[in-house]
Amino acid sequence: MTPKIYVVGIGPGDPGEMTPRAQKVLEKVEIIIGYRTYVDLIKDNFPGKEFIRSGMTEEVERCETALQKALEGKNLALISGGDSGIYGMAGIMLEVVNKSGQPVAVEIIPGVTAANAAAAVLGAPIMHDFAVISLSDRLTPLELIYKRIECAAAGDFVICLYNPKSKSRTGYLETARKIILKYRNEATPVGIVRNAAREDETYQVATLENMLDFEIDMFTVVIIGNSQTYIANGRMITPRGYKMF
Ligand code: SAH
Repeated sequence: MTPKIYVVGIGPGDPGEMTPRAQKVLEKVEIIIGYRTYVDLIKDNFPGKEFIRSGMTEEVERCETALQKALEGKNLALISGGDSGIYGMAGIMLEVVNKSGQPVAVEIIPGVTAANAAAAVLGAPIMHDFAVISLSDRLTPLELIYKRIECAAAGDFVICLYNPKSKSRTGYLETARKIILKYRNEATPVGIVRNAAREDETYQVATLENMLDFEIDMFTVVIIGNSQTYIANGRMITPRGYKMF
């Protein structure tokens, strides 16, 4: 039988937000491999498994470990937070398997990504066309990130920012905001959701003008409304254009 690696998106955090398909796969495998924070989020719900946890910059090693274990005949899953195909492990795993030339199957199980979870907390901010942009320049040149922000802002996309700010990258969000302000006014609603669908979830509905006054870190998604987005009863709404009577 061809060895198989499951790449599983575990959702934003709360076990209730994990899909039944992801749950079933994780119950079935012997080994669960993932980034520390994500393994710690789920490990109590999967007793008796072997867990392999590793750090932030060790994605390729994690995939090589998964490949090696699969070739040894082990039944395993590689996990990502949210969806594994959105800044997650799915792409790297496919690349590592392809490069190895080994006959290993990869099954990818989708999950609820941070933008979905955050949008639901805020109201309905991504009801219209939206762009998801990561502010991390660990693997992407900063000029390209800013260019994409500029294009998304010019195109009036709702913009979801992942990896908005880390200890070493404090100024990128400020620059992103300045670029967006060339195209949108200061009153544009901005939703800030930290730890969406986790125990310590918090959120703010801010504006482009005051968004930098709130706590924003690597556990936060920032959703910047388009020119039509508004706030009603504390909820952020991007209208799709339906006529009300
Ligand atoms: N694969 C993940 C994204 C990984 S990139 C997904 O689909 O959600 C990591 C970034 O995602 C974080 O810096 C943060 O911006 C965002 N993120 C992930 N989970 C989150 C959560 N529960 N609440 C808020 N932001 C989250």
